[in-house]
Amino acid sequence: MTSTATPAGDRAHSAAKRYIYGWGGGVAEGDSSMRDLLGGKGAGLAEMTNAGLPVPPGFTITTEACNDYFAAGGQLPEGLWADVLEAVHEVEVLTGKGFGNAADPLLVSVRSGAKFSMPGMMDTVLNLGLNEETLHGLVALTGNERFGWDAYRRFIQMFGRIVMDVKGERFDHALDAAKAAHGAAQDTDLDAAALKALAGEFKAIVLEDTGRAFPSDPLDQLDLATKAVFASWFGKRAMDYRNNQKIAHDLGTAVNVVTMVFGNMGDDSGTGVAFTRDPNTGEKVLYGEYLTNAQGEDVVAGIRTAPKINQMQTEMPAVYAEFVRIGEQLERHYRDVQDLEFTIERGKLYMLQTRSAKRTAAAAVKIAADLVDEGLITRDEALMRIEPAHVDQLLRDQFDPTARGAAVRIAKGLNASPGAAVGRAVFDADTAVEWVDRGERVVLVRVETSPDDFHGMAVAQGILTARGGATSHAAVVARQIGKPCVAGCHELAVDYRTKTATANDISFAEGDWISVDGSTGEVFVGALPTVSARFEDQPELQRILDWADEVRRMEVWTNADKPEEAAMARIYGAQGIGLCRTEHMFREGERLEIVRGAILVANVATRAKAKRAAGETLDADDAEAVATFDSAMAKLEVLQQGDFEGIFRAMDGLPVVIRLIDPPLHEFLPNLEEQLVKVTLAGDAASEEDRVLLATIKSMHEQNPMLGLRGCRLGLMIPDFVKVQTRAILNGLIAVKATGGHPKAKIMIPLVGHVNELSATKALLEAEAKAVEAAAGVEVEYVFGTMIEVPRGALTADEIAKHAAFFSFGTNDLTQMTFGYSRDDAEGGFLLKYVEDGILPVNPFQTLDDAVAGLMKMAVDKGRATRPDLELGICGEHGGDPESIAKCERIGLDYVSCSPFRVPVARLAAAQAVLTGPERDK
Ligand code: PEP
Ligand code: MG
Repeated sequence: MTSTATPAGDRAHSAAKRYIYGWGGGVAEGDSSMRDLLGGKGAGLAEMTNAGLPVPPGFTITTEACNDYFAAGGQLPEGLWADVLEAVHEVEVLTGKGFGNAADPLLVSVRSGAKFSMPGMMDTVLNLGLNEETLHGLVALTGNERFGWDAYRRFIQMFGRIVMDVKGERFDHALDAAKAAHGAAQDTDLDAAALKALAGEFKAIVLEDTGRAFPSDPLDQLDLATKAVFASWFGKRAMDYRNNQKIAHDLGTAVNVVTMVFGNMGDDSGTGVAFTRDPNTGEKVLYGEYLTNAQGEDVVAGIRTAPKINQMQTEMPAVYAEFVRIGEQLERHYRDVQDLEFTIERGKLYMLQTRSAKRTAAAAVKIAADLVDEGLITRDEALMRIEPAHVDQLLRDQFDPTARGAAVRIAKGLNASPGAAVGRAVFDADTAVEWVDRGERVVLVRVETSPDDFHGMAVAQGILTARGGATSHAAVVARQIGKPCVAGCHELAVDYRTKTATANDISFAEGDWISVDGSTGEVFVGALPTVSARFEDQPELQRILDWADEVRRMEVWTNADKPEEAAMARIYGAQGIGLCRTEHMFREGERLEIVRGAILVANVATRAKAKRAAGETLDADDAEAVATFDSAMAKLEVLQQGDFEGIFRAMDGLPVVIRLIDPPLHEFLPNLEEQLVKVTLAGDAASEEDRVLLATIKSMHEQNPMLGLRGCRLGLMIPDFVKVQTRAILNGLIAVKATGGHPKAKIMIPLVGHVNELSATKALLEAEAKAVEAAAGVEVEYVFGTMIEVPRGALTADEIAKHAAFFSFGTNDLTQMTFGYSRDDAEGGFLLKYVEDGILPVNPFQTLDDAVAGLMKMAVDKGRATRPDLELGICGEHGGDPESIAKCERIGLDYVSCSPFRVPVARLAAAQAVLTGPERDK
């Protein structure tokens, strides 16, 4: 076979641009570096050809052609069709066959292929080029009439569904009816005559449903299929997929036209899908399925149960050996696990696709570590191969073992994507979305999924299918989006009509709770309790995160309010506490009563104390208020000191940032409306206590409490809060140190907008600290700093830094006040709609907004100008979000602080921020 493909750059073209890249006969015009233009599939086919692998000849129409097609309002660019005809001709020469030639027909598959793999965005159309004449050529050449008619009916079915938009069920019903009429159990039991009749029926269906005759001219078929692939780029399921995966909508898809090879030419033919390593566990074994005498879609759709790939070793040893060798070659070449599609035509192996394999979180981690050990990739590359979401998934819940032992099992299928999912059963994707929108958790149950179900899969807790194997759509997509999935649960009879499913005499209906274990393939009745996945049991993840620790510049601290949380965060690798919200301790058990007791008299007592300080004598009421207040605060002080000691011990040797009280006081009192209703309903019978409580709540009521008396403002109005908390912290330090501990405390003042707020609070706090030191007869070391969470604080950071040894960015409040969006209300109201409508690119409470990041950068620069050794961190929710962490790296923060559970994710994200950011370029 000789090549007619010309080297890249040389190809003549009638269109204004070069839109076509061909391959065949060992030469390709493209290569793997051209994914943008050729899409992943096209680049892979070219690269495999260049590597000398057996790839059927073909050509790629570029993504640029797709974009130009849309730019021209759905018209092929001028001249493109002539270039396509030329490319078809080249393939004819390479194969020695003719497109539309009845004697020796060239048949092709037409496949979409974007830069990023989008499973099932647009199914492949196989056998294109068939019509009643070429069909006879095919039959004559193969000597197999049944094969010919089967290929033809498949073509009409696929083309009809994908290109002409006929509903798939229409063909399925006709096929089922034909099988029933002929007493055929499988598709393969239908003979040539039955298939011929079916082809006629299929054509009639197309005419009936579309009003158009099924096209018989191969060139018309190619034209329509090419346009259908382009159009699929903006189809609903492709859009949903890209939105979910954050893939840009302007990349476009390429179209690959590939010479057909037939896996259904008898028992020496076959087709399959395989991964070079197990995509569930990462284990280094060939993993996949194949079918003899079948075409590709049979494997993916799970129509026949496909044997495991290693069975091929016995059935076709030579082909198997070649396939293993090619798999290894491709893995070494791409330095990553590959997902391969292949076909064997009469004993000859053809490679149809190679791409980086989608994998579970567990597999991603194992594969990355193994590839480093095998010397294929560096540690830095390994870090970039793992998505932060993978780390998150590995720490996802599992079912509680005891509950699972006692649970009623409904059925067992394939463990397609690990993790535990609990939800109410729903039987279609739209219902899944509806139910989730109203706050339900659901498990999506389908006979099998298709790309049309993607929106339901994306919102479901887990996915359960009755058909399809480990490489089915459900399995591949679930793994990728990190949802637990049990696939191919054959015991399960799913009835969409009655919205029920039954297996082993157990039925469940829409709305019933079920539990799905994607790690074992089991499905249980009811909602089983789950337990967290143990980080301690995941040495490979720990190994990778240790590498991340060597790379990252920023430290990772945690937001923890209790010793148990601190201890857990430490196991996860936290290097300090970046935010201990002291008021969280106020709500525990009996404490709330004590806190309320103090708050109810706080204002009166504070005023009375001021009078006393000015030399006035207090009347009985004032004196009583002071006594009540002081007694409650004293109790609180003892309790808080205990809390702090626990935290200092848990974080021994590591810094602990303790923030003084922040929320408005009314948060600790009963709700105004409820108290009003209580007193009003009771009428004259209302107790004095309830009336006083109502009056106090009313007196403290604010229209905008988030912008009201909270943070440092509260401490300045009721200084005892600052004093008591300072004493509790410092005495806690002294106590822990006395028992041999190494506590390191940093006291942080929230919500500072004006430097005077900080200096006044500092004066108050220092006076108290001196008193504690005098009483204890020791010097106590602590560091004093502030949060930057009010825009004015950021704008005047140079002044503020004069009084603060550290800044911690409270980006929850900073976002709220920069946008002017109430953080309590916006996400329940307009904000998510804003994101949906594209008014905002992301939810700024989840991912740090650039303008907010800009304010932070300014505060960093100003703060450091005043105090070069100023320590800088973030403790808002953004501290655990990978994209925001990358921004913190660029801003130059010293650490991020996030909830304990997100510490491992943050460790990886902080390393990736270095590897992709300016640090790396230095
Ligand atoms: C913040 O505002 O970002 C912050 C950490 O404080 P809080 O969420 O407690 O207001
Ligand atoms: Mg705040």
